[in-house]
Amino acid sequence: MPRSLPACRLWRPTSAGPVVEPLRIDVDAQGRVGGLAPGDTNAALPWAVPGVANLHSHAFQRAMAGLAERRMNPQDSFWTWRETMYQLAARFDPELLRDVAAQLYVEMLEAGYTRVCEFHYLHHAPDGRPYADPAAMSRALIEAARETGIGLTLLPVLYLSGGFDGRALSDRQRRFGHSIEAYLRLLDTLRAEQDERLRIGCALHSLRAVPPAAMREVLAALPGDSRIHIHIAEQTGEVEECVALRGARPVDWLYANAEVDARWTLVHATHLSREETTRIAASGASVAICTTTEANLGDGFFPLLDYMAQGGRFGVGSDSHATVSLVDELRWLEYGQRLLHRHRTLAVDASTRSVGESLLAAVVRAGADSAGQGSAASVGVLQPGADADLVTLQNDHPALYAASDADVIDRWLFASNRPAIDQVWVGGVQRVSDGRHLQREAIEARFAAGMKRLLAD
Ligand code: ZN
Repeated sequence: MPRSLPACRLWRPTSAGPVVEPLRIDVDAQGRVGGLAPGDTNAALPWAVPGVANLHSHAFQRAMAGLAERRMNPQDSFWTWRETMYQLAARFDPELLRDVAAQLYVEMLEAGYTRVCEFHYLHHAPDGRPYADPAAMSRALIEAARETGIGLTLLPVLYLSGGFDGRALSDRQRRFGHSIEAYLRLLDTLRAEQDERLRIGCALHSLRAVPPAAMREVLAALPGDSRIHIHIAEQTGEVEECVALRGARPVDWLYANAEVDARWTLVHATHLSREETTRIAASGASVAICTTTEANLGDGFFPLLDYMAQGGRFGVGSDSHATVSLVDELRWLEYGQRLLHRHRTLAVDASTRSVGESLLAAVVRAGADSAGQGSAASVGVLQPGADADLVTLQNDHPALYAASDADVIDRWLFASNRPAIDQVWVGGVQRVSDGRHLQREAIEARFAAGMKRLLAD
């Protein structure tokens, strides 16, 4: 039976700049856009935007949000936060991972994210031994995604060494590790389960965790269209170590040793030289900027303006999930630049004067590509063949009173002090109504029980 998405005034980016049109969107049997028809121009249709991919997530870290905000040491930093994270990670089993991930994915859907790139390294039992099913933890994430309805781009992580010097993994890192052979087998196993809502890609944890020869071997074994994500240049300490041990800054080293192109997503890429910024922009790779996590961890500012001026592609990720809000990721991406440069209205591309529209257009476009949903450049955004992922806004939200097509996105992103999303549809199926996920209650009850278990002594 043919289905359709709710009639709406759809905002979307096009090559000629953002447009808003009243539309009816038909959905095919695979959950893709089948066709578009003009909508009723007289009806008070809700505004809607394309669903956005969350480009970077470690689902289990949702359980430690808010638990690392007390000063334990005058030198608290990313590295001391990582110790707390390791202690918590050691308590996860597949059931707890599924329940925490399901809660997180409900929150993501309610925030307007319709797909998540899960950078997954919690592979084995706490002592480092594989589970009876070596893919058990991956399957827990797949189960959570299927239950909640979010699209999942699962990126099993290759994590081989504890530092640039090639040292072995520490005890607490052991459950993250694989032999190359076992890792490639895991990818094969999971690929057999791919469908419209589940894509399998590859993640290299970081340059410090993947020695050069291993990186080359794994990259050579991947299918030609595989998406590849890597943490890079998040910390200045990591940049310095890379220079000392590999003779080059991380992004320079990566580009000299791998063919980095549009299949790649560089996560964070916070500390870049001018040349590195230009290299990424020219290569067509995307950067996953994790604004709220980078702020929470005290990482630094991504050189957004320089990068945008060169046409660089970027999306956003909620990463450690201290905040799960598309609005906050985008608003604070701009505010960070304002605080840094002491000017206003900075992150603007050539197609519109609106900051909100420029940022949303960037993350809609790069998001689909980086998550392996098919290129926004080839199928277009919410054009026939693209995933039927749609987010509608509340017409009667105070931030949108008397709004116009030209200011609705800025009002939503910069002035909605309570969530303004009404419905969320993924692959043509409704998952959120009136701002609430349809299974929120049952999933939240399991999460509450899981948190109790996790934090009990
Ligand atoms: Zn990360």
